[in-house]
Amino acid sequence: MPILNSINQMQKEMQEWRRDLHKIPEIGLKEYKTSSYIKDKLKGWDVEFKGGYADTGLIAWIKGSKGDSKKSIGLRADFDALPMSEKNNFDHKSSNEGMMHACGHDGHTSMLLGAVKYLKENNDFNGTVYFIFQPGEEGFGGGEIMINEGLLNDFNIDEVYALHNWPELPLGHFGVSAGPMMAAVDEFDIIVKGKGGHAAIPDLVVDPVIIAAQIINAVQTIISRVTSPIDKALISITKVHAGSAYNVIDDEVFLGGTVRTFKEKTRLLIQNKLLDTAKGIAQANGGDVEFIYKPGYPPTINSKDESIFASEVAKNLVGDENVVTDVEPSMGGEDFSYFLNKKPGSYLYIGQKDENHKAHLHTTKYDFNDNLLPIGVNFWVDLVKSFFAK
Ligand SMILES: [Zn+2]
Ligand SMILES: [Zn+2]
Repeated sequence: MPILNSINQMQKEMQEWRRDLHKIPEIGLKEYKTSSYIKDKLKGWDVEFKGGYADTGLIAWIKGSKGDSKKSIGLRADFDALPMSEKNNFDHKSSNEGMMHACGHDGHTSMLLGAVKYLKENNDFNGTVYFIFQPGEEGFGGGEIMINEGLLNDFNIDEVYALHNWPELPLGHFGVSAGPMMAAVDEFDIIVKGKGGHAAIPDLVVDPVIIAAQIINAVQTIISRVTSPIDKALISITKVHAGSAYNVIDDEVFLGGTVRTFKEKTRLLIQNKLLDTAKGIAQANGGDVEFIYKPGYPPTINSKDESIFASEVAKNLVGDENVVTDVEPSMGGEDFSYFLNKKPGSYLYIGQKDENHKAHLHTTKYDFNDNLLPIGVNFWVDLVKSFFAK
């Protein structure tokens, strides 16, 4: 792999940042120490930045020395952790109980910091590179908040790119698709309303448990019978709560779940059909439902030209055979989608699997693969240089 020597020489230093960050995981828009850590590095390298977006988020920039082109590219890394307890036992394990970098955002941040450091010293390009350090990716919509607070109005960014480590791909491989990458993520609540009573006198009650059972089964046929079989979509009911005694039929059953889709039309169709199905079944049984639908992240859809461009850069770096250009979209979600709704760009997976890194994202034994750091940085550097040479 032709990683630049000068980037390989940064490996030890970058590993140190990555492990420092791993030790201090912070969650959802309260990543104060992590944000300070990033700012301290930028100050140390004399790199300009503006903070305060979504409180802990920030944007740094480097102008090239080769002219005054208005062309610009934005690279984004997320830096929040997850509310879960780490089960690893190495020295750099989480020192914040109940919080863990189990999605590798410590690595994404370190790769972007590596790119800042390298490009500050090697700014022989014509244009401006923006480095977006984003908080609250894991369900807090930090990306959306930064945009709503004016990030993309305050700075003129032509195209946006992001990398996410991917434990399903071998170390240093890339995966991208010129289209859907991640699903829209919505949540819903169905409160099934019956009429409780004695478990031994069911003829005098409207049993919400029986209604809920029928709803749970029936909503699964929305995907197979209502949406098109070639359109990817998913409904999971993940919460079922009712009852407190063996001999009492409860008044209500609380159901909760998630819907994943790629098209706005399908998203709306499922939302309406969930309500119709639940209400129809409940009313046929003498009950009713309260339905609450909570739209979350939109789907992450890569634009075509920029994805082909990014995959060419990756191919030149790691070889054609190590870049999957028609990677299967994931039913997971990602708030980089808000950036891609505003600007052309691409979100890429970068493989991290090797002998010691087989754990999946969001699991207690996960750790970011430090051997990925120079590969990620070299990709960012090549992407920037190729972008300005375009
Ligand atoms: Zn995650
Ligand atoms: Zn993540």
